[in-house]
Parts: sequence; structure tokens; C-alpha cells
Amino acid sequence: MGIVVQKYGGSSLADAAAIKRVARRIVETKKQGNDVVVAVSAMGDTTDELLDLAGGVSPLPPAREMDMLLTAGERISMALVAMAIADLGYEARSFTGSQAGVITDSVHGKAKIIDVTPGRISSALEDGHIVIVAGFQGVSQDTKEITTLGRGGTDTTAVALAAALQADVCEIYTDVDGVFSADPRIVPAAHKLDKVSFEEMLELAASGAKILHLRCVEYGRRYNIPIHVRSSFSQLEGTWVVEDPTEGNTMEQAIIAGVAHDRSEAKITVVGVPDKVGEAARIFTALADAQINIDMIVQNVSAASTNLTDISFTLPGTDAQTAMATLQKLQDQVGFERLLFNDKVGKLSLVGAGMRSNPGITAQFFGALAEAGVNIDMISTSEIRISVVVAEDDVERAVRAAHTAFDLDASEVEAVVYGGTGR
Ligand code: ADP
Ligand code: ASP
Ligand code: MG
Repeated sequence: MGIVVQKYGGSSLADAAAIKRVARRIVETKKQGNDVVVAVSAMGDTTDELLDLAGGVSPLPPAREMDMLLTAGERISMALVAMAIADLGYEARSFTGSQAGVITDSVHGKAKIIDVTPGRISSALEDGHIVIVAGFQGVSQDTKEITTLGRGGTDTTAVALAAALQADVCEIYTDVDGVFSADPRIVPAAHKLDKVSFEEMLELAASGAKILHLRCVEYGRRYNIPIHVRSSFSQLEGTWVVEDPTEGNTMEQAIIAGVAHDRSEAKITVVGVPDKVGEAARIFTALADAQINIDMIVQNVSAASTNLTDISFTLPGTDAQTAMATLQKLQDQVGFERLLFNDKVGKLSLVGAGMRSNPGITAQFFGALAEAGVNIDMISTSEIRISVVVAEDDVERAVRAAHTAFDLDASEVEAVVYGGTGR
């Protein structure tokens, strides 16, 4: 008996029948003698539909109003899940992020949780209630405005609640059986990882494996909360994200944990930047001031005759319009020639702690891509990750080629996608 925090994603809450199924699962956990706190996402593709709706009303909606709109999705789910639980004869109380004490900074659309003050949750638990919290949202400490945590942010709500409540475990319920060696939607031969380290999961999440929100993994690691990723559609044991996956295990850890891909990035090239001290700083300071996260950066060697260079970088596609507008304003000051924009790019990342001690991984990776006829546009590495930018149309072929080249294919197909539209 202890506190269990569960998170149910949108695909697990797609319609009334799904909500009733989730309610039964929550009640089962309560019946086992646990205090249960649940973070819920918006139903099905609600968040995307709300985004489409906003786009139909305004091309660049005010960020504050966008957050007011999007948080409505999670409020719908929280109330419906609480109702379904009540129908099963158990008492449930739903709370918005703000009511649950999720305090964030004031950056709309990608706010960071800075504190969780779960007073109302704790008193509801003391009253014997099941607590349902609207995920993906909080309230800004400074502005008192409602904020959202970025796409996939309910994972982070769940782990932050687990940390604040000192829960024994945070269970992330989704539409696949755990974390796989690649997205099962594009690699049917992917195999399930029984355990994965926080370190590798951080790299996978940062590289676009949307099974877990990046900040949820950071939180889990900081507060050492074991995260159990599993399907809400099966009873199978999922994947445990833990500090040390080799603990109590006689098996050696695999060299490569998996291949992640990301089609949501865009690439901007600043053409003809004067090659002198301070220009790169000026460009990237302006982007940082606009709250834009830059991913990969490549600067070409400047042509001797002109002393001009090109700087290319990738960034989240959702930030591309703001970045282009920010850079256009800098054109006269910096004196670059023009901007190029390409959103038909994709990123592919190979992740594995074994890279540290095994030379030749890069060569094998690039060899596999060459054999698949995939051209590499940009490269970046960390100690345990190699990422490349390729044409968007090549992404799926490249992921499968790398997966096979590193012997990650399962001998029997085990990857089941139970729901969701993959949107
Ligand atoms: P939820 O609605 O439950 O939050 P998401 O769609 O955000 O679900 O995340 C689950 C999806 O993540 C899966 O359906 C799968 O397509 C995708 N995914 C990407 N990479 C992986 C991976 N390495 N392992 C498992 N699923 C992955
Ligand atoms: N509903 C939000 C999204 O679709 C948050 C989440 O599902 O975690 O991104
Ligand atoms: Mg998600």
C-alpha cells in the first residue's frame, strides 16, 4: 500500500467506452489498497483538433488564449473520468492543474514546472478519494495565468505529482506495451525494452521518441521516481525507466538502446553572414530572447574571397515562423544576405550507452544509411547518441535500415499498436 500515480494518454481516453475502461483500471488499483492520483490527457486527438480550430480563426493566435483553449481538453477528460469512477461506486475528485498546485514559469505553450504544492490533492486522498488531475497545465507564479507544458506534457504532470507526493511509482499508460527499440508504428520488428536507463531515455525523448515527454524523464531522474511505461489496453508488464537497468540483472546491457526519429523539426539557413566575432552570438541571442530552442547548428567554412559564411540550424517546426520573423528583423544589423527555410527534413538518432566503449558505431550507422541510399544533411553527437538530419521522405527507410543494421529487430513480432491515430 502506498501512493500510485497513473497517467492516461489521449489514445487511452478516446471515447466514453475507453473512459469507462480506464475508470475500471483506476478503481482496481484503489481496491488493491493504494492511494491513487491520476493525470489525464485530452481525449483522442482533441488537442490537435483545438489547434486546427484556432488556426481557422487566426494564423498566429495570442499565446495566452491558446493556453486557455488547449487546457480545456484536459478539463473535459478529468471530469468524465471522475464521473465514470463515481458510477463504479467510488469517490473521485477532479482538479485542474492550477487547483492541484502545479506552479510553472510564465512561458505560454512550453512552461516549466517550478513547484508542486499538492495540498488539495493530499486532503482529498486523506478523505479516501481518488484524485484526477488535468495534465499538461499549470498556473504561472508571476502572472497567475494558465500555462501549458508543451505537447505530451501530461507525462511531466504525472511524474511531477509523483515526486511531490513521494509516490512509489509513476505508471504511464499509453497505446503500446512500453518503450520499444524504435517507434512500432514505423518499425513493426521493434522489440520492447524491459528496462531502460534515465540517461538513454532522456536522449531518446530529446530525439523525438514521443512515448515520453522529455521533461518527465528529467524529473524522474532528478527525484529518482521509477517510471513504468505500459499499455492501458493490455495487462502486460511494460518498460521500467530506472537509474541503473543492470541492477539485479545478469544480462549485459545492449550497446544500442534504440533508434528515434523526429519529423517535427525545421531547418533555417542564414546565408552570407559576415565571418567576424560576435555575429553568431547576435543571431542566437535574438532567438533565445524569443524563447526558441535550437537543436543542431552547422557553420560552413567561409569563402576566402567574400569572407561570408552560412549558418544552418534546426529547431521545432512550431517555432519556425517566430524564428524567421525574429531573424528578418536582424537582417540589417547583422548584414546577412538571405534566409532559407526547409520544413521537409527529419531527424534520426541512434542512442546507446554502449557507444562510449564501442568504437565504430558511427561508421556502421553511416554505412547502413549509405546502403539504404539516404543522404546525410547534418550531423550531431553526444557521448551516447548520434543524430543526423535527412530528407523527410527518407526518414522511415533510414530508421528501418539502422534498426536492422544494429541487430535490433525482434525475432518474433511483439510490437502491437492498440490505439491512437499516430497524430
Ligand atoms: P499518449 O496519447 O498515450 O500520450 P503518445 O502518442 O504521446 O501517446 O505516445 C505513444 C506513441 O509513441 C506510440 O503510439 C508510438 O507510435 C510512439 N513512439 C515513438 N517512439 C516510440 C518508442 N521508442 N517506443 C514506443 N512508442 C514510441
Ligand atoms: N493533450 C496534450 C497533447 O496532446 C498533452 C498530452 O497529451 O500529454 O500534447
Ligand atoms: Mg504522449
